[in-house]
Amino acid sequence: MTRMNSRPRALKGRGALSNPPGRFDAQQVTAVDDGWYLEEEPDSIATTLEPDKARGIITTNDSPDVGFDQSINPYRGCSTGCPFCFARPTHAYLGLSPGLDFETRLFYKADAARVLEAELSRPGYVCKPIMLGINTDAYQPDERRMRVTRSILEVLERARHPVSILSKHSLVLRDLDLLTSLARDNLVSVALTVITLDDDLKRKLEPRAASPAARVRTLAALAAAGVPCGVMVAPVIPAITDHEMERILEVCAAAGARWAGYVLLRLPYEVKDLFREWLAGHYPDRAAHVFSLIREMRGGRDNDPRFGSRMRGTGPYALLLRNRFRLACQRLNLDPMTRGALDTTLFRPPGPAGAQLRLGL
Ligand code: SF4
Repeated sequence: MTRMNSRPRALKGRGALSNPPGRFDAQQVTAVDDGWYLEEEPDSIATTLEPDKARGIITTNDSPDVGFDQSINPYRGCSTGCPFCFARPTHAYLGLSPGLDFETRLFYKADAARVLEAELSRPGYVCKPIMLGINTDAYQPDERRMRVTRSILEVLERARHPVSILSKHSLVLRDLDLLTSLARDNLVSVALTVITLDDDLKRKLEPRAASPAARVRTLAALAAAGVPCGVMVAPVIPAITDHEMERILEVCAAAGARWAGYVLLRLPYEVKDLFREWLAGHYPDRAAHVFSLIREMRGGRDNDPRFGSRMRGTGPYALLLRNRFRLACQRLNLDPMTRGALDTTLFRPPGPAGAQLRLGL
């Protein structure tokens, strides 16, 4: 069951402007004003959390352009609420909307630590770095009370398992004790995503993320604690955020970022219409121009899912972005997307924490 606003508008603390049916939904809803009365629509929607029924916790992939083989996503859905989020379409597999449902109806990995211990202790497990929170942010607002990500990180730290983290939230600093322990053995890297330094734009684009200044301070705190860190400018949105690329890299390099990456806006499946709606709501004067630049970089389409071009786009505008990024990284001594290999040789199967304590290990 999905909800469709008759007059899409931003709800308090939410990014998507509506809740359209997912692509597998048998029911398609079209709003029609019949002139009788307008149903009252709430100003805000509460977030709900349910246990995720999926049994496994480590996901593997063989995509040639993502830079990791294994990942863990402690949550499905993300209340940070970015309207452009490429993970939104995954909510359609749950029979939910990639719109507001994605940011309000969340699922968490129940019993995450125990399931992870079992998977890492399986005979034949081959240690490769795990990317934590690549699909949905592992430090999104509800992690503060749920502590699912922390429980996963505790297992990885005990197993001396390498892990990379990508987040928009300062909450990552809560786990600095674990991160510094991992960093001592070259077992961790952390990247903060920064797409704008403009607070007003951030509120519209990433409603519940940390402020840009807080993210820069987070980088500085990580660097000061000896945790290798970098910045991801992702996504770059033409004619909305692309002019900020050099300034973001400068500020983050000064805070202690060692490497940097960027990804061009991707609009798979339902995201293209959600983003079109967001543009029409917030930047109606620029919407046509933004989409014309997107299509120029996407071979005439709204989205290009092909490996090799989906991250950076093609054509003159995409080439210009690529050159600007390369030159800024050179000038600022930032490694472009090379965070360095993490150590896989120290891994030991974790076993339950309680058992280790009883044995006095
Ligand atoms: S923080 Fe990341 S995962 Fe969460 S909504 Fe934004 S882009 Fe998606």
